[in-house]
Amino acid sequence: MNILVTGGAGFIGFHLCGALLKKGHKVIALDNFLTGTKENVAELSRDKNFTFIEHDVTNPFDYPVDQIYNLACPASPVHYQKDPVKTTTTNVLGMINALNIAKKYDAKILQASTSEVYGDPLESPQKESYNGNVNTLGPRACYDEGKRCAETLCMDYFRQYGTKVKIVRIFNTYGPNMYKDDGRVVSNFIVQALKNQNITVYGDGSQTRSFQYIDDLISGMILMMEKEDFTGPVNLGNPHEISINELAKTIIGLTNSQSKITYRDLPKDDPKRRLPDVSLAKKTLDWEPNTQLEEGLKKTIDYFRAKI
Ligand code: NAD
Ligand code: UDP
Repeated sequence: MNILVTGGAGFIGFHLCGALLKKGHKVIALDNFLTGTKENVAELSRDKNFTFIEHDVTNPFDYPVDQIYNLACPASPVHYQKDPVKTTTTNVLGMINALNIAKKYDAKILQASTSEVYGDPLESPQKESYNGNVNTLGPRACYDEGKRCAETLCMDYFRQYGTKVKIVRIFNTYGPNMYKDDGRVVSNFIVQALKNQNITVYGDGSQTRSFQYIDDLISGMILMMEKEDFTGPVNLGNPHEISINELAKTIIGLTNSQSKITYRDLPKDDPKRRLPDVSLAKKTLDWEPNTQLEEGLKKTIDYFRAKI
């Protein structure tokens, strides 16, 4: 099949393109290198079935493909808050441009949505039926509301034009090939620990996240794309909840680091809890994550150790 991956030079895009190439598909990746890397593209380009096109998804594009994975959008709060107007535009215009090709070529399109659509959730665990608690006015809204609007566009193309849309809500995902200056917690803590620098916990560290290893996510995304007659949304995440303090201690232990934990201000609207209910993914896709946190962290630490 011919498959288009927007955001193909980024962390998830890199692993997804690799997995699709392994299955023998032809993959076209679009990316503007906002947070993606040329190194990722160089590694993928070793496969003759891989084509890279430097392109900003806010401008229209048109490739005759069978499937589209729409990933283009910075995922780290540090990066998506740098140019918030661009973040909203990427989510909304990028989604429309991608949906227009899906409609034109009758291709399936999978949107990489996020647990952030639940905002600072008042319900835990979060089920797909929960409508969320998002501050439309805060610094995270460019991302959260952008992703919510992208979901709305998917459902409207589905109802209005019969476009074959699929929505996955991805919970915090980590693994090798994360960008070392990405700013997200796992890469920050691992790099700090390996350099014996202070570990920067924001707030008092009691907020929780549930961390999913990249390989589990990729298998869930591909299963979702291949599943007939199921638009979702479906949560893809690991239902092992851990506080940021515990994460810091685990990473210090696994790296045998001399680092000490230091505390910084908690960013505005930082969600207090995040825990996926993955029963829908289990039932519909026969999917569940099977990488334990320590196992995934060890692989990620090995990657960063070699990089630093
Ligand atoms: P990432 O920042 O590593 O990758 C995003 C990619 O999109 C980058 O390569 C970037 O250069 C590209 N991009 C950004 N704006 C673009 C534009 N206007 N035109 C073309 N390319 C553009 O992040 P990631 O972790 O790989 O996330 C990929 C997708 O998955 C994002 O849409 C993100 O919102 C979603 N997601 C990720 C997570 C996670 O934990 N990693 C969680 C929920 C949702
Ligand atoms: N965080 C932290 N130190 C860091 C980076 C992040 O304590 O150096 C916290 C952040 O405040 C949040 C959690 O870790 O509570 C996850 O942050 P991340 O940016 O990885 O993703 P988010 O889930 O907030 O989108």
